[in-house]
Amino acid sequence: SSSDHRLPLKLLIAAPRGFCAGVDRAIEIVERALEKYGAPVYVRHEIVHNRYVVDALKAKGAIFVEELDEVPDDAPVVFSAHGVPKSVPAEADRRKLLYVDATCPLVSKVHRQAERQIEKGQHILFIGHEGHPEVIGTMGQVPPGQITLVETLADVAALPFTQDDALSFLTQTTLSVDDTEDLITALKARYPQIVGPKAEDICYATSNRQAAVKRIAPASDLVLVIGAPNSSNSVRLVEVAERLGTDARLIQRASDIDPSWLEGVGTMGLTAGASAPEKLVREVVDRLSEWRLVQEETLVSAEENMIFKLPRQLTE
Ligand code: SF4
Repeated sequence: SSSDHRLPLKLLIAAPRGFCAGVDRAIEIVERALEKYGAPVYVRHEIVHNRYVVDALKAKGAIFVEELDEVPDDAPVVFSAHGVPKSVPAEADRRKLLYVDATCPLVSKVHRQAERQIEKGQHILFIGHEGHPEVIGTMGQVPPGQITLVETLADVAALPFTQDDALSFLTQTTLSVDDTEDLITALKARYPQIVGPKAEDICYATSNRQAAVKRIAPASDLVLVIGAPNSSNSVRLVEVAERLGTDARLIQRASDIDPSWLEGVGTMGLTAGASAPEKLVREVVDRLSEWRLVQEETLVSAEENMIFKLPRQLTE
């Protein structure tokens, strides 16, 4: 009814949320490559998993492809923030392509750990989600057969290794902090000899966004997470809220919100995955304000000031 929009809606906005330093850097790499080399600049895979970001770069002259063989010999190409298997830069070198690597430095760090573990003669158990580009990229840092993907506790139980095998573990950067801890505990119980990073490789942005959702979810009737269905860290945010018993939905844009979701909702939580621009958060607040009297409150659970350097080829 026409008086419904007078109904207050308390909106708890999580902080930190949205863009991380790796996403900021990847977008800036494409923008600077466009400035330096001129359009078109090819980008292998969605630079970050967000349609809004991809469309904005397309409008500036970026062309998105899935594989290197779609890139012409004379055009520059950017590799996405998720990282690529070693075979990709090798093929780019062979074709003498001009390429810029936008792999997040925190993903590159995991790549180097993988190389070192292989040098030490260890077989790597890699905790991650099958098919995600970061997983394909990290597994592609080492010879096939020397790294095994582990997704679930059942996978851990089914591993063929013994307590005499030299083993190490690594993880994807955008996993659930809690699930990963369970998997590492199970790996250590089965293989006490296993070595790995001190905690896990989950990045600061992923863990901060999960901690921030844990703060808003218990007080919320519904949590909205802005992010793409193929964005690992965004999907994890939905799961974190749900695990605390709060309904949660993943939305890509404000237009995805069905007004019926607001029925009986007095307090709503709102956050955004690491690849979702802040503009989309404002768009959601504006949309909600069409229906309800929104009272915003930002709950800050951590401060972030991470900045990653751009590749030298774009700053010289
Ligand atoms: Fe890098 Fe983490 Fe952002 Fe991924 S989510 S781009 S690993 S900072």
